[in-house]
Amino acid sequence: MKAAVYQGKEQIIVQNVPEPVLEAGEVLLQIEACSVCGTDLRTYRHGDAKITPPRILGHEFCGRVIESRAPDLKNVKVGDRVVVYIVILHGNDVYIEMGRANLTSHRTTISYHHDGAFAPLMKVPAAAVAQGNIFPVTTEISSRDMSISEPLGCVMNAHSRLGVGLKDTVAVIGAGPIGIMHALVSRLQGAQKVYVLDVNAERLKMAAQFDIDGTVLVTPDGSHREKIKELTGGLGTSVTIAAVSSAAAQNDALEIAAKAGRINFFAGLPKSAPVAPLNVNHIHYKELEISGSYSEKKSDFRAAVALIESGRFPADKIVTHTLPIERITEAFTLMESGEALKVCIIPGSV
Ligand SMILES: [Zn+2]
Repeated sequence: MKAAVYQGKEQIIVQNVPEPVLEAGEVLLQIEACSVCGTDLRTYRHGDAKITPPRILGHEFCGRVIESRAPDLKNVKVGDRVVVYIVILHGNDVYIEMGRANLTSHRTTISYHHDGAFAPLMKVPAAAVAQGNIFPVTTEISSRDMSISEPLGCVMNAHSRLGVGLKDTVAVIGAGPIGIMHALVSRLQGAQKVYVLDVNAERLKMAAQFDIDGTVLVTPDGSHREKIKELTGGLGTSVTIAAVSSAAAQNDALEIAAKAGRINFFAGLPKSAPVAPLNVNHIHYKELEISGSYSEKKSDFRAAVALIESGRFPADKIVTHTLPIERITEAFTLMESGEALKVCIIPGSV
């Protein structure tokens, strides 16, 4: 079969690889769609210490069960269309016990430690099958649109701690697909106002097509901070989400947050430069609450699947481009230029 294989930095090669052979407990999927994640792009450009090449990447996927060697599998059967929670647990620890399995170090992840879905066929590891990580898709929503269940679950994880509601005004810094998802989830949760900020005017034009209250261009003179103050009656935003890997964005979040505001640092900084100059006095004087967010819990993934299936989430507008697997590296350029929100890869037939 023809798969996109990560062979090292700047090397994702579309090549023939043997079809996966099922072992006891495993399930074989025919992949119908696999969206490209910002982390796939980062791995392609910079490598990733957790990934040893050769590895088939791709973890935002939807496919059909075509074979099963898991006789005890109850909720799915051959022929079903499914999405998969990609975190696989091995053993137990205090984080798993407290319901924060995303934080455990006793985990492996599909597309990091097991081959992913930039291929026509992918096998679901036995442990993932046994842990109930396969979720049947119960609507007619396309596989292309269902593929963003995974990133939406990561967004849900952040929101499970932000608790956005009717009293909130929200600013999302970063108008990429993740930023837009944060804005839309905030809206669905009842936020009064939702604003999206970005340095890229083209991205803001795309963001403006969604159900938000306004966009603000981030400029070097800092006028975007004043703009947010103006838009919020001088208060700043009660919830501020930094959805871009940038220290300046994190500092902007501290600056534009209202007193007693909640902030989420959704994106990490590059591992080579994780120390940021932040005006931490804002945390002190404004009594800010800052949370981080990494990966997702199974409950987040389940909620994301349900939200897309409900038809109340415009997944079809978030996936802006579809490419055949042969053109996968074009996805990275489309993402970097800001021309695309989500790019979805269609692996094609075996
Ligand atoms: Zn992802």
